[in-house]
Amino acid sequence: FNVPTPINEPVKGYAPGSKERQELQQQLKSLHGTEADIPMHIGGQQVRTGNLKRISPPHDHQRTIGHFHYGDASHVNQAIEAALAARTAWAEMPWEHRASIFLKAADLLAGPYRARINAATMLAQSKNAFQAEIDAACELIDFFRFNVHFMRQVYEQQPESLPGMWNRLEQRPLEGFVFALTPFNFTSIAANLPSSVAMMGNVVVWKPADTQVYSAQVLMELFEEAGVPAGVINLIYADGPVVGDVVFKHPDFAGIHFTGSTKVFQTIWQEIGQNIHRYKSYPRIVGETGGKDFILAHPSAHAKAVAVGISRGAFEYQGQKCSAASRVYLPSNLADEILGYVKEDLASFKMGDVEDFGNFINAVISEVSFDKLAKYIDGAKADPNAEIIAGGSYDKSKGYFIEPTVILAKDPKYITMCDELFGPVVTVYVYDADKFEETLELVDSTSPYALTGAIFSQDRYAIDLASKKLVHAAGNFYINDKPTGAVVGQQPFGGARASGTNDKAGSILNLLRWVSPRAIKETF
Ligand code: GLU
Repeated sequence: FNVPTPINEPVKGYAPGSKERQELQQQLKSLHGTEADIPMHIGGQQVRTGNLKRISPPHDHQRTIGHFHYGDASHVNQAIEAALAARTAWAEMPWEHRASIFLKAADLLAGPYRARINAATMLAQSKNAFQAEIDAACELIDFFRFNVHFMRQVYEQQPESLPGMWNRLEQRPLEGFVFALTPFNFTSIAANLPSSVAMMGNVVVWKPADTQVYSAQVLMELFEEAGVPAGVINLIYADGPVVGDVVFKHPDFAGIHFTGSTKVFQTIWQEIGQNIHRYKSYPRIVGETGGKDFILAHPSAHAKAVAVGISRGAFEYQGQKCSAASRVYLPSNLADEILGYVKEDLASFKMGDVEDFGNFINAVISEVSFDKLAKYIDGAKADPNAEIIAGGSYDKSKGYFIEPTVILAKDPKYITMCDELFGPVVTVYVYDADKFEETLELVDSTSPYALTGAIFSQDRYAIDLASKKLVHAAGNFYINDKPTGAVVGQQPFGGARASGTNDKAGSILNLLRWVSPRAIKETF
């Protein structure tokens, strides 16, 4: 089994008149006016409960594009049983056969599924065509192909054998089922969390965010068409606490693969701790959680580069990336110039529906998110410690639209410099250009998170100093680039501190969490 080292899937440009744009527009058109009826998938069966939840585009919340069938505790139990029933046959399948299923999934996604998954992600998650393409198509194709590449390394790395003996490592799947709890903001992450676990011979119960069900349905069809056997990945929709109550009390619970909020992850960890006596083995707990990602400019930085870092890093996909820049430290000698460029950029960003490909900014995911962001913006408007220097308006009459907003904070610990907002709002603090070292301290100590961060500088001593002083402040550290857009196989992604367990997605480190090695010594 010798597949070449993968190369990253090229991003399609969707130029006006291009074939890919026509295909995508056709998909969007065909989804218009249809209401999808979305079942759960348990043990290869479609399960409909009749307890329906409506799906609407965040940029057009009165429009209905589908309904999904909500389950309860009995469906969680069914999903666990189906997973356990599929476990032995799947675990015993040679890993090359499992790998080939996911290589096929990558090919299907690169071909016939590409427009569909992008259209679904655009409509239900309010992601523009270009952001959907880099997420639901390219990043997911890369996850499948690179994980297969790393998977081979996991199985092929073997210990030395001396004359008279044969030593070997048998990379067994975990003894039980794994729970994948996935977010709305990346379709690729929603697919990678269950599939990377399954690839290593495990069976999975998968619960996506309610706001990502529309594209999760397409992913499940993709898995099935690629040949993932019935029961290996079971897709359920139900209230988080209802699911958790069944999953975390089950003796066969063997691990969780999670991306979501720090609060939920900590609650889950506590629940697992409380139930630890019930399990056959210590569960693997792998999670990527929140962030309060920084951009720090040194007085030697290129002003224009910093500005692009802010406007792209903070506002792509409405700032709803865990990696999005949300606190910015600018030196007093460059602040005006940089902010001038940022304002120019923002003035060129069009906001609106995803179906107009000219719109860079679309809606935030939900009313809850919209209301939370509006509250922080109102707070800044009323607070003498803050000034809104760009954006600041919002409107939820048709969709959940928040104008890209820049807050200037007089206090480096102002609330929006500290709280995770998860939206198109960035806060800037201007520091005295002579106080770079003190500012490094500030960057390190202001937030409990450590997901991504960026330093802009043309001074190698400053870059070196920042790398040392901020050694634990970010799991993904960028020098002269925005802190978003990690590419699978190039920048393995994940953070530490309150941002997660740092088991880098799309890397061998992550796959190693889903096997339990047996070391075998045989003497002749
Ligand atoms: N990997 C994404 C990036 O580098 C962020 C993933 C996330 O939001 O969880 O931008």
